[in-house]
Amino acid sequence: MAGSSAISIHPSVDNGIRMGAKDFAGGTLVCKCAQNPVKVTVKSQSAYNHACGCTKCWKPKGAQFAVVAVVPRDKLSVTANADKLAVVDQAAAIHRYACKGCGVHMYGRIENTKHPFYGFDFIHTELSPDAGWSPPGFAAFVSSIIEGGADPAKQDSVRGRLRELGLEPYDCLSPPLMDAIATHIAKASGVLKA
Ligand SMILES: [Zn+2]
Ligand SMILES: [Zn+2]
Repeated sequence: MAGSSAISIHPSVDNGIRMGAKDFAGGTLVCKCAQNPVKVTVKSQSAYNHACGCTKCWKPKGAQFAVVAVVPRDKLSVTANADKLAVVDQAAAIHRYACKGCGVHMYGRIENTKHPFYGFDFIHTELSPDAGWSPPGFAAFVSSIIEGGADPAKQDSVRGRLRELGLEPYDCLSPPLMDAIATHIAKASGVLKA
């Protein structure tokens, strides 16, 4: 039987997960265009970094998972070639700003102020040459890779490999994030006192 290490999750975690740096305060994300790349400056460490199996998050070619984190939206700004960005799907809750040149998603933003994650922008720290970003800590929407074409029969191996990497697999978000969503909804409905 082939070892589960033969299962590729994402190039940034396949050889083990790099630790983040204490006191890391952000960096620059750069798209993959050889000429006039889009640059996004983030003045914050990332949070809730995770592998995501959904079909919406940008992932590098051949990867089964995306690796995506959040930062406060007021800490993120486009600092070069903003004219190359376009929203992938205006109807989606997260407006994912992709480079029209190379297709990379530079950041995702929620405009609905009532959304549980309003105030967070979604980023892919692998686009940054700066080292020290918080490492991925879990895997979300693992079942969804099947929608992206993965073989359902290999899901046990995929989950095994994720656990081996220390990325506990979930089929939605992690319990703390699901609790945050439920708390937001309970406060909005009045079930919980704000
Ligand atoms: Zn580009
Ligand atoms: Zn996703």
